[in-house]
Amino acid sequence: MSKSVDVLIIGGGPAGFFAAISSKTHHPDQSVCILEGSNKVLSKVLISGGGRCNVTHACFDPKQLIRYYPRGGDFLLNPFKTFHCEHTVEWFESRGVSLKTEEDGRMFPVTNSSKTIADCLEREAKKASIAVKTGERVTSISPSDGGWMVQTSTSIWKARNVILASGSNQLIWNQLERLGIEIIEPVPSLFTFRCAHPLFSELPGISVPTARLTYESISTDGPLLITHRGLSGPAVLKLSAWAAREFNQVDYTFTCRINWLGKSRDAVESDLLAYADAHAKSYVRSQPLFDLPKRLWTSILNFCDISENRNWAEFGKKQRTSLVEALTATRVEVTGKDTFKEEFVTAGGIALHQINPKTMELIEHPGLFAAGEVLDVDALTGGFNFQGSWTTGFLAGKTLGTKNE
Ligand SMILES: Cc1cc2nc3c(=O)[nH]c(=O)nc-3n(C[C@H](O)[C@H](O)[C@H](O)COP(=O)(O)OP(=O)(O)OC[C@H]3O[C@@H](n4cnc5c(N)ncnc54)[C@H](O)[C@@H]3O)c2cc1C
Repeated sequence: MSKSVDVLIIGGGPAGFFAAISSKTHHPDQSVCILEGSNKVLSKVLISGGGRCNVTHACFDPKQLIRYYPRGGDFLLNPFKTFHCEHTVEWFESRGVSLKTEEDGRMFPVTNSSKTIADCLEREAKKASIAVKTGERVTSISPSDGGWMVQTSTSIWKARNVILASGSNQLIWNQLERLGIEIIEPVPSLFTFRCAHPLFSELPGISVPTARLTYESISTDGPLLITHRGLSGPAVLKLSAWAAREFNQVDYTFTCRINWLGKSRDAVESDLLAYADAHAKSYVRSQPLFDLPKRLWTSILNFCDISENRNWAEFGKKQRTSLVEALTATRVEVTGKDTFKEEFVTAGGIALHQINPKTMELIEHPGLFAAGEVLDVDALTGGFNFQGSWTTGFLAGKTLGTKNE
């Protein structure tokens, strides 16, 4: 015997919960059920942001906001006009969860605990009488009687509308491909680089605040951290996101360049000339320039073969050119990737040209909606990935009710 419900949601993650609550909020007469394959809902919320859950970002202008999405930014412009970060803040605050903003714009619950966010979502779902079924792994989805039939490991469900919120689950993507839905091949995003270089092999723990990292024509700016295994920090994570597909194609073996200062060659050269003029008698090694950490400065000078007893008066054009090159374009051979503990996501998923951005419905499959990471949408770190889930979940849930009336 199959079970029936008006709205069936596949996946008990943030997108699924937000879609369910939105559906009930806009259309209270609908019966809504979340099917979660594992025995626990909202597991990524609980481990997110190092246990603090970086819920969203203090960026309240949709046009600015879409710049943080290497895939899906253009698609999200309209959805963000309906529901963006400010709405997320209001949504949680009006349900008793205060958020705070850190210096870099990331927003967390004031409790510093991701459980606050998970508890709020579960409480709201319970209040709205949303059924949550764990241990119901969806194995197939097919059209049936003007609606949808969904088979799980234990039951068969029928629903007029289905919201896909299964995150980066290959089984569901395979099912969708069987329905003729185009899936962009999933590849990892947000990872660190494994690499060794004589210049920084002795410097784990050293960081610079405003580096620029370049791979072919893609550049990212931000803090850069030298680790035991290679490179990490925001500049690396951003590059891993913007070039996620390219790096996958070359099996994470590629050459990139570090500009330790984030400044142009010309600017660095003229700074060096000016310093040399003003400090002709000082040793080149005595004082790190450009606010670089002393150990990094020394290492760069060693790399350029600039000897201990050289002063700025003796610093010739050849050495200047070599130093400028090392400071602005250190060539690094990356040999693999490592996981970044705070946050990782999948690039790829349901190709966006098949989705109506106003409703999150699959244009060719009436009654089938999608939200969150199941879509070909992903962002940089900073709360943007959750924001994508809140926004698409909100819209999918809002529209579903309308469809049934
Ligand atoms: C360690 C870590 C930390 C992170 N921290 C942050 C952060 O601080 N801020 C931020 O913005 N982003 C963060 N992210 C990214 C964020 O967690 C995801 O973008 C977000 O969880 C996506 O939400 P979702 O609901 O689409 O998918 P998910 O959270 O993956 O939820 C999908 C749910 O569907 C279920 N499911 C899958 N397949 C089936 C099936 N066949 N049947 C039934 N159920 C199924 C899964 O079990 C899961 O519960 C982090 C990611 C990780 C891995």
